[in-house]
Amino acid sequence: MTTAAVYYQHVEHGGKVIDLPVGKVVCIGQNYQDHIAEMNSLTAPEAPFFIKPNTALCAMASAIEIPKNQGAVHNELEIAVLIKQPLKQANPSQVGAAIWGYSLALDLTLREQQARLKQLGRPWEIAKGFDNACPVASFIASDKIADPQQLKFSLQVNGIARQAGDARHMIRDINALISEMSHHFTLLPGDIVLTGTPAGVGPLQAADQLQVQLADYFTLQTQVS
Ligand code: ZN
Repeated sequence: MTTAAVYYQHVEHGGKVIDLPVGKVVCIGQNYQDHIAEMNSLTAPEAPFFIKPNTALCAMASAIEIPKNQGAVHNELEIAVLIKQPLKQANPSQVGAAIWGYSLALDLTLREQQARLKQLGRPWEIAKGFDNACPVASFIASDKIADPQQLKFSLQVNGIARQAGDARHMIRDINALISEMSHHFTLLPGDIVLTGTPAGVGPLQAADQLQVQLADYFTLQTQVS
């Protein structure tokens, strides 16, 4: 048996480990109109929520090992929210106080696998929940961000702009979508919520150089391996 190479902890911007467990990742699909358009997605009034297991988490700053020979692995850069207090059937007004802070994460997706599974009417966990399917950057404490609903963020791949997001364009705002999630799944301290991807998803290849930026808070360089 080999030792697990995956070792993830929530980290504060500056490098300090955050004293919260490593929980599940709860995600929303179809939260930006431009991404719904690029995917030609069928939509429904209910938000599509899904979960990635905690084994999908890895540090974005380290080289990101992606699956090989399983078809295209797509980038989806999203605002990530770290939860510090339990949320069960919470109102949007109760959500803010339960948030530790904000960061960026990649909701890596085996796109061809996902399309095949959708067509078969099957769950898509294996396309979204594999090991390293959720690289996360360091978190900025919520008291340092005046209005998270105005955060801008971007992804460059090999120096070329690929995604540019603006939280003001979310269909469900952060507190509303977390409230809605908490009516399906109780959120616990150490869970991470992903808030959906804007347009610009596309395939990543080994050796790609990535640069992600969260407003004026940080710019991070990493690579795909
Ligand atoms: Zn996503």
